[in-house]
Amino acid sequence: MKYDYLVVGAGLYGAVFAHEAKQKGKSVLVIDKRPHIAGNVYSKQVEGIHVHQYGAHIFHTNNRKVWQYITKFAEFNRFTNSPVANYKGELYSLPFNMYTFNKMWGVTTPEEATQKIEEQRREIVGEPKNLEEQAISLVGRDIYEKLIKGYTEKQWGRDCKELPAFIIKRLPVRLTFDNNYFNALYQGIPIGGYTKMLEQMLAGIEVRLNEDYLGKKAEYDAMAERIVYTGAIDAYFDYRLGNLEYRSVRFENEILDIPNYQGNAAVNYTDRETPWTRIIEHKWFEFGKDENGKDLPKTVISKEYSSEWKPGDEPYYPVNDEKNGALYQAYKELANQESNVIFGGRLGEYKYYDMDAVIAAALDMCEKELS
Ligand code: UDP
Repeated sequence: MKYDYLVVGAGLYGAVFAHEAKQKGKSVLVIDKRPHIAGNVYSKQVEGIHVHQYGAHIFHTNNRKVWQYITKFAEFNRFTNSPVANYKGELYSLPFNMYTFNKMWGVTTPEEATQKIEEQRREIVGEPKNLEEQAISLVGRDIYEKLIKGYTEKQWGRDCKELPAFIIKRLPVRLTFDNNYFNALYQGIPIGGYTKMLEQMLAGIEVRLNEDYLGKKAEYDAMAERIVYTGAIDAYFDYRLGNLEYRSVRFENEILDIPNYQGNAAVNYTDRETPWTRIIEHKWFEFGKDENGKDLPKTVISKEYSSEWKPGDEPYYPVNDEKNGALYQAYKELANQESNVIFGGRLGEYKYYDMDAVIAAALDMCEKELS
């Protein structure tokens, strides 16, 4: 018997699709090359703490439909992301808000802060052409130099003049004392962890792990009428037009026999010299408590190092600049000719998607595909 759908990749996009297809009475097989489900949102319990194995994932959205959808599979806690920036031992509040401006310039009112920013942004004339110009035009040179330049160059491995402006527009700038990183109506972490949430989404669906689709493509293709592919689009075509560029991330995890290492879930190291970009202390995503509400005696931290992707690494971030955009378009044309295959998700669409946008895109696709 052939399955109606083979879903390649058990991450968020694949899980939403598989769930919806099953609801519609379709037969679905999900495969993943990793030994676990949940893609990059995978979380694993260590010392009673849900460790975000592939980097911090903080769910946030303004999309009511997505929120209603995802909360069917998990209850969310009230975690609000407010990272701290550490610049050579000076601590600043993020995103850029009145606490940041006060620490940077000693200003105490929104008017004074505006005046400072206005003075400093004058050096940019016309429409900002790249990330550096965009950043200076948003918050001025002082903040750019201390809180943006080093961090961004470490994260992307590229000069800020070579990066697209839109990346920095992810960060809010506020003239209020509000250090909530996201402008989102809904925000939180799934109670019990992301892996448990994905288990709920995939309940009753056949999932096979450690399965390398591209290694046995013809065999897998014969197993289903249609394929939903959420891996890297250039890998699918065997890199025949060349490699798309990605950033990869490496984590150094440590279990520490102390209850509190840095007092916050995320501390960004925004200078150029510190080799890691940020340190995540996972227990603070859940307020330092275990599932029974008891204080956890130990802590787990992850130092995050950013690197250029090379074959064999996990791709994390697409590098959405002009060169890669053009190459992606060429791959997209090839993809359009694969009439039985749907390409989706961060890697399948080569897009810097947040989790909520991935879910929205998957739900849109389901509407077209499954109705
Ligand atoms: N950013 C920065 N300083 C910071 C945090 C972020 O300059 O302390 C900039 C940087 O350019 C980065 C972008 O904002 O690439 C997005 O950062 P975010 O942490 O939102 O990215 P994530 O890795 O969480 O997707």
